[in-house]
Amino acid sequence: MNAQTQVSTTPRAVIQTLRGQPASDGAGVKLTRVIGQPRLPDLDPFLLLDEFGTDKPEDYIAGFPEHPHRGFETVTYMLDGRMRHKDNHGHEGVLEPGAVQWMTAGRGIVHSEMPEQREGRMRGFQLWMNLPAKDKMNPPNYQEFGGEKLPLVEKPGVKVKVIAGSLDGATGPVKQPATDPIYMDIRLDAGVEFALPVPAGHSAFVYVYEGSLSVGVERDAATINAQELAVLGDGSEVRLAGRSPQTRAILVAGRPLREPVARYGPFVMNTREEIMQAFTDYQAGRF
Ligand code: MN
Repeated sequence: MNAQTQVSTTPRAVIQTLRGQPASDGAGVKLTRVIGQPRLPDLDPFLLLDEFGTDKPEDYIAGFPEHPHRGFETVTYMLDGRMRHKDNHGHEGVLEPGAVQWMTAGRGIVHSEMPEQREGRMRGFQLWMNLPAKDKMNPPNYQEFGGEKLPLVEKPGVKVKVIAGSLDGATGPVKQPATDPIYMDIRLDAGVEFALPVPAGHSAFVYVYEGSLSVGVERDAATINAQELAVLGDGSEVRLAGRSPQTRAILVAGRPLREPVARYGPFVMNTREEIMQAFTDYQAGRF
């Protein structure tokens, strides 16, 4: 007999797969809406996931001119291209490839997100994370992390950039006690198996943006191809295996808030009255 303690882990299974929907936002930017569409309006605490990716300037050049936000946070992760951010609280910066912008809209921010290039590829993700009712009217905040601020965890056949959460002692810069998010950008070689811990009870998804991988264990594993999102059932870890020469995917998880959601465009509150108040405050210049 050996006296070692067995730590039991429960692998998460795929409970839903879906593709994003073509959408247009801002002044006509073409993107793919993955969360925030009819088949998946939200995945508490996540309200929206957009993938933008194009080599055609006409798809992105119009950008996102001045617009407001209230009541939640956005995490923008650039893979290719450069985007300039400017807001009415004096923050301005250029997101470079590999950088992350974490914006807490809180009680109100008015900002623009415009391409800082006239040609070439623009690619990345914007994720909206809800805030609990008690934090929705906090002061706005804006943080930017260059690619060098994101820890890279390497194992044979695996590279993981840690945007939020921890892996092997490396902790990502995006932190939010209310939702305790995990956000990993994963690169897998073919046939390589890789398991990551994800707290039980967190909502979790994997979105593949290049190649394909499988999620789960043996017979029950599901193959997820590029541009597909897999919503994961509960469990304490996620087991992935590369199924193409090179696979790239994001794994995102967060603690559900389980609060009522009232949303209208760029405002996400708990009640309809709070949405009406957001319009009034925005029009009165109180953002
Ligand atoms: Mn915005």
